Amino acid sequence: MNLTPETQMQFLFSLRSRGVTDARVLEAMEKVDRGLFVQGLFANRAYEDRPLPIACGQTISQPSVVGLMTQALDVQPRNKVLEIGTGSGYQAAILSHLARRVYSVERHRELTRSARQIIETLGLVNVTVMTSDGSLGLPDQAPFDRIILTAAPEDPPANLLGQLRVGGIMVLPVGQSDTVQSLIKVRKTADGLDYTELCEVRFVPLVEGIAQG
Ligand code: SAH
Repeated sequence: MNLTPETQMQFLFSLRSRGVTDARVLEAMEKVDRGLFVQGLFANRAYEDRPLPIACGQTISQPSVVGLMTQALDVQPRNKVLEIGTGSGYQAAILSHLARRVYSVERHRELTRSARQIIETLGLVNVTVMTSDGSLGLPDQAPFDRIILTAAPEDPPANLLGQLRVGGIMVLPVGQSDTVQSLIKVRKTADGLDYTELCEVRFVPLVEGIAQG
């Protein structure tokens, strides 16, 4: 589907009306055409504010939720960011416009491959997409200024909290997969961790291990 100026305006309007008001986040989202990340049957619904199916039984998140999470993450231009759950690569592409460096990990090789391809085509050279178990984080590249999870663990994983820099922020959904989950923001200070609950969300569960096949 072609992204016409009218569709683009409507897309940005629906983000704003759901509370995505940060100018830098809106600008980054304006630069990334969601239509490139939704293939097949649902391609013509890419500009609607709803989650959509992607390969491997996963989903690309709802744009307004992507916006609210990105806003809560408060990414600064010098930041090194880790994303757990690359999926389509849409969130990673948005982060690439806000951060110095983005690492994104995905447990399905097929998703890693297609996300990497789109990100390369877009020339987003500060993003690295890898297949690995995100519940372990990425110890080789730690610490991170920002960590975002787009799959829900029951509690914030200790490995990831350990890889967050002091002064850093982590945004993630937590809770059981078959119920409503909470989106939370964790700030790491010199004295410990500060938790803020943001809103209710529904994400696929964080699953341990790399997917087989
Ligand atoms: N951020 C994505 C949304 C992806 S949905 C986007 O913009 O499209 C969540 C993704 O998390 C799924 O692709 C799922 O395979 C992945 N995932 C779940 N558990 C994981 C784990 N332990 N490590 C890495 N990825 C994981």
